[in-house]
Amino acid sequence: MKDELTCCNAESEPALLIERIETYPLLFRPKQPYGDANGYKEYRSCYLIRIVTTAGVDGWGECVDWLPTLDVGFRQRVIPFLLGKSAANRLALVQAVKKWHQRAAAAVSMAITEIVAKWAGMSVCELWGGRLHAQVPVYASMQSYIDQADWQAQSLSRVEQALNAGFSLVKVKIGGKPIADDQAHIEKIISLAGRRAQIALDANQSYDVATARAWERCFLRWQEQIAWLEEPLPVVLAHADQYSLLRQSLSVPIAGGENLRSAEEFLPFLRAGGLDILQPDPLHHDGVEAFRSTLDTSRHFGVRCSPHTFDGGLARLYALMAVALQPAWSKMPGEEIEPIEWDVMENPLTQLFAVSVRNGFAAIPDGIGIGITPDMAIIRAYAWDGSSY
Ligand code: MG
Repeated sequence: MKDELTCCNAESEPALLIERIETYPLLFRPKQPYGDANGYKEYRSCYLIRIVTTAGVDGWGECVDWLPTLDVGFRQRVIPFLLGKSAANRLALVQAVKKWHQRAAAAVSMAITEIVAKWAGMSVCELWGGRLHAQVPVYASMQSYIDQADWQAQSLSRVEQALNAGFSLVKVKIGGKPIADDQAHIEKIISLAGRRAQIALDANQSYDVATARAWERCFLRWQEQIAWLEEPLPVVLAHADQYSLLRQSLSVPIAGGENLRSAEEFLPFLRAGGLDILQPDPLHHDGVEAFRSTLDTSRHFGVRCSPHTFDGGLARLYALMAVALQPAWSKMPGEEIEPIEWDVMENPLTQLFAVSVRNGFAAIPDGIGIGITPDMAIIRAYAWDGSSY
């Protein structure tokens, strides 16, 4: 327990003064590129940082963007700015960093949050107020398209693997093929899943209202098996009323917002009544505190919040911890808390921070800080060589 005087002087506390920042840019190229309506992913990447204080307290952070841009940004501006600063002032530090490089704010906010939690002898959840849930549901998230004639068969095989692993919710892609091909593909998945799992459909902003409404004939047949329709339209302020129109004419929930940066950017969609489920991503938001603010905002507006965490093993751990603090959104047994996205595609970077998942639930680590240290073998194996890609 720290006395009042110590707390007031936390700014000069050696345990919180930033002395060193290590960077770990990581790149992985899948053998078979996979994708969605935006094309095939030839690579997966993340930029890890480790901030160490004068007294040796450390914290890990993660962000995503094109690695050469992030690397220059950290080396030339973010790191020189942070050295000698106190992690006690984490909101001010994150505000300054986000002005120069918005994506870097996520990494810095995670790392200094962990430092303060370790200094206080608490887990990050305890620092934030203490968790309400010991485990959080996760859903299997897939990239359905590959550049092969048998893409549908391979997609079905991945869905089957997820069902066998105990997932009760699977997200697959639409919007990248002619609608008849996509509907034939989803029909097979619906039939395969049966009563075992619900299916979420992600269109990655492919359609207009009329095309999205063409799915309603299918939804009326599949209704109970569709968890949500994700981002059928572009998620831009100008289209908030289009989302509202669509939401009123479809029989399934509409989800979206993975690229928005703050609760403020969700407001036009909330005011228009355009979304049933908010999908903030900790890596796209202005730091983890901004991410938590969006989670709270969803509760204030009475809509669900199911975070997007496709990139980043550490980001999804932070999403798990933040969701574990949220009050239940329903009183239905087994549906107290919304699920978090779980990338099940070939991507070793998601294994950097090992969180155990069993039957579609992830256990929240209990240790000091984030309760987990990264797998250094993965960091060494996928170190980016500095080349353009
Ligand atoms: Mg999406």
